[in-house]
Amino acid sequence: MNQEIERVKCLIVGSGPAGYTAAIYAARADLKPVLYQGLQPGGQLTTTTEVDNFPGYPDGVQGPEMMMDMQRQAERFGTEMRWGIITEADLSKRPFRLVADETKTILADTVIIATGATAQYLGLDSETKYMGHGVSACATCDGFFFRGKNMAVVGGGDTACEEASYLSKLGRKVYMIVRRDELRASKAMQKRVMNTPNIEILWNHVTREVLGDGKVVTGALLENVKTGEMQTIDVEGFFVAIGHKPNTSLFTKYVHTHDNGYIKTKPGTTQTNVPGVFAAGEVQDHVFRQAVTAAGTGCMAAMEAERFLAMES
Ligand code: NDP
Repeated sequence: MNQEIERVKCLIVGSGPAGYTAAIYAARADLKPVLYQGLQPGGQLTTTTEVDNFPGYPDGVQGPEMMMDMQRQAERFGTEMRWGIITEADLSKRPFRLVADETKTILADTVIIATGATAQYLGLDSETKYMGHGVSACATCDGFFFRGKNMAVVGGGDTACEEASYLSKLGRKVYMIVRRDELRASKAMQKRVMNTPNIEILWNHVTREVLGDGKVVTGALLENVKTGEMQTIDVEGFFVAIGHKPNTSLFTKYVHTHDNGYIKTKPGTTQTNVPGVFAAGEVQDHVFRQAVTAAGTGCMAAMEAERFLAMES
């Protein structure tokens, strides 16, 4: 039963760097934003350890701590922060009608979608155990910690090839663990990894277990699916690059997406095809996927929401 109805000028859905930055800007513009944090407040960065590439932290910062900082900054300017999820969205007319936690109806003049994307993982218990301690889904974020070491990348798409290529410059050796006997990646990317001397592609291999010493990753147990042969590789970084899934299911009835599921925005803006609905962060960016780029588009979304509302008054 939807009993409570609330009217807000700006509803932000999602609590990664995009959502929190949108909240900082929207609050400072006096839009009195309400932000729903979702099930994992802070988003993907809460699954990483050190973040060394976000400007303003010269000594690096732990991912969860940085997200708490962003949350506090957004709250400082009056963002109403709510731990909860949006469970329904009707964006067919304004004010937009959304339901939070299946019970509370919110009428919103503008909506900023900042729900991010979820990295796909293999689903092994050992992978979960070493998440942030050798297991990662982001080479740009975490590759630096494995300089001079052996690493593995799982996957055979463009992302896996890009990550392997990036890591090959940092590490001693990079294994690509590919489940078939071919790569899905574009020909150019295939050529790049095949021409990199310290990348070894293990064709027809799947990971059965991520190995560790109880604290950090030390290797991986692989099976050759053609021969059934088992093999252990010694690696300290285990990067999973088997795809991301943008969290868009609530909105796709109204908001246009690219073929790969990411929300389409008008180039150079965060505007979706629905006037008054903006998309920021990874939910609309499958290319850069960085905290700092997400934060940048969060800022843009809030400024565009403010201008959109100002044009009406
Ligand atoms: P893709 O879906 O293209 O590739 C996923 C890869 O992971 C495939 O090789 C797939 O194997 C493998 N995989 C999936 N599930 C498993 C599993 N459970 N175990 C082992 N391997 C698995 O995802 P990407 O993230 O690489 O790319 C997404 C999109 O973004 C693509 O359209 C890509 O072209 C694009 N992109 C473009 C870039 C660029 O142009 N520079 C850079 C990065 C991405 P299989 O092939 O057997 O299914």
